[in-house]
Amino acid sequence: MFKFSKKNIVFFTATLLIGIAFFNVYNGKIQSRQVLQIDFSDFVKETEANNIKDVLIKGFKVVGHFNNGTVFTTVVPFQDRDLVTRLMKHSVAIKAYLPEEMNGSFIQILISWLPMILIISMWLFSIKQIGQGSSRAMGFGKSRFRKTGENDKKISFKDVAGADEAKEDLEEIVDFLKDPSKYKDIGARMPKGVLLSGPPGTGKTLLARAVAGEANCAFFSTAASEFVEMFVGVGASRVRDLFTKAKENLPCIIFIDEIDAMGRQRGSAFGGNDEREQTLNEFLVQLDGFEQNTGLVIFAATNRPDVLDSALTRSGRFDRRISVNLPDLKQREAILKVHARKIKSEESLDWFSIAKGTIGFSGADLENLLNESALLAARKKIKEITTNCIEEAKDKIILGALQKSITMNEKDRKLTAYHEAGHAILAYYSKNSDPIHKATIVPRGRALGMVVQLPENDKVSITKIELIERIRIAMAGRAAEEKIFGADFITSGASSDIKAATNIAKSMVLEYGMSEKLGMVNKKEESGYMAGPENFGSSNNLKEIIDSEIKKILDDAYKFALNFLNEKAKELEALTSNLLEKETLSGEEIDVILKECESK
Ligand code: ADP
Ligand code: MG
Ligand code: ZN
Repeated sequence: MFKFSKKNIVFFTATLLIGIAFFNVYNGKIQSRQVLQIDFSDFVKETEANNIKDVLIKGFKVVGHFNNGTVFTTVVPFQDRDLVTRLMKHSVAIKAYLPEEMNGSFIQILISWLPMILIISMWLFSIKQIGQGSSRAMGFGKSRFRKTGENDKKISFKDVAGADEAKEDLEEIVDFLKDPSKYKDIGARMPKGVLLSGPPGTGKTLLARAVAGEANCAFFSTAASEFVEMFVGVGASRVRDLFTKAKENLPCIIFIDEIDAMGRQRGSAFGGNDEREQTLNEFLVQLDGFEQNTGLVIFAATNRPDVLDSALTRSGRFDRRISVNLPDLKQREAILKVHARKIKSEESLDWFSIAKGTIGFSGADLENLLNESALLAARKKIKEITTNCIEEAKDKIILGALQKSITMNEKDRKLTAYHEAGHAILAYYSKNSDPIHKATIVPRGRALGMVVQLPENDKVSITKIELIERIRIAMAGRAAEEKIFGADFITSGASSDIKAATNIAKSMVLEYGMSEKLGMVNKKEESGYMAGPENFGSSNNLKEIIDSEIKKILDDAYKFALNFLNEKAKELEALTSNLLEKETLSGEEIDVILKECESK
């Protein structure tokens, strides 16, 4: 299936150019070895002057060395009978060959053209191979997956620490893989695909393997990048191959790592990519093609779920989503303990306090930490790992990962805790807003922490007071910073809060008709307010009103938040210290803490 797609043409032109360059260099080398061409008369003169060391006579052609080593060549006119005598007289060493000029030059031409010929024939060969169907070209179409067999160490849920929510979600799939017929009989539909999303090193691969281990089924793993190849059609053929192999081993799991390499949204900015689209299409065809409930479940992992093609995530395909996040304090402690089983450590080692000092570490980071500590201990010839080893290893890891977000010192931690506690207090006491799901100071992406509110039911419309409360909640992070650390020490951490609040306020004024002064007009689209004053279709006066209305909403909300936090100073302190201690607080925990404060 050789296609003259842009990619292939580029590839072959490049090969050709490299070949030509190679040829020239090679040829140049021969030329540079070529020798000084001198006239016969000069040759005679040099002989007389005793400057010639030796010669090789080939019919009419003479090649030889000067005494200084330079190679020369010349042609003898007619038969110079005296040539040999003269050379002898000046004691030049003489070698002679029969004339074979034709032969020599033919071989020389052949040699100089050899690389070119080789390259051209290789090029023709590869075109022919691909033309014959990609799957036969050097085993291209075979997918390079790894099947975990009986001999590999089985991983079970016990090896995955902390990720309780994810494990709970996966329990059902384990049960299904153990006995697919049970589900078939009752007519229940099992998800075909499970998408594990989360930052690197949080145990996505581990979880998928654990499911296979728990269900005691085969596990095929591969990375999506294996499917993205230079040649159109290769990826698709590898996908087919993988599915065929998997279907011979039911029940089983196919695990595809970094699925975003293959499953990116199609038709994006830089024009299509034939190969990737074809691969993705084939994958979707295979995904739809296998019968549900036969005992095949596809797991895919990604840390960019946002870029995935919507065709992949629609229901009936990867419709089970499990997000795996950076572990919080308790989870870190559990992960450390899991890996501590493999190493020898001091009895008195306090895993909890080590967990405390490793905020932002992923499971993989923690495993690495213990491994580094063990290496250190071995180098120092200590029998057991001590707290010192771990501290030293931690410094090393943190230094090596400066640009990652795992360097959060105690001061930042405290500031983040107050900031998030501020959000949480306002959210808790706002009667019209959604209940708090959790508050955390574990960094996630660029956010240092967050307060998550979950709506109790789907909203169709939203009231003015809800919007105002949302703005107040957003402002409360900064308000808490100002209250505790003073106006000079507020941080840039509130920028996304401010942006969110401003957007709400703009919508209130420009779209929802919630400003008294402006009234019931929509100024958003027609005015191009967002585009700046040049395009502002309203009068200057109107623009001022709009600006001041937006600002008023924001200022009022900020003042409210600051006052409220001053009133609830005790609660703010309690929540902050709990956050510092536990890092993540659930909605219920927050409820308990704040109720306790009130009763005092
Ligand atoms: P991901 O696929 O999310 O990038 P991995 O599953 O490859 O991460 O994890 C890398 C390693 O980190 C695992 O082999 C394991 O040793 C360790 N690890 C990660 N998360 C956990 C966890 N929750 N419990 C125990 N070990 C973990
Ligand atoms: Mg992985
Ligand atoms: Zn905030």
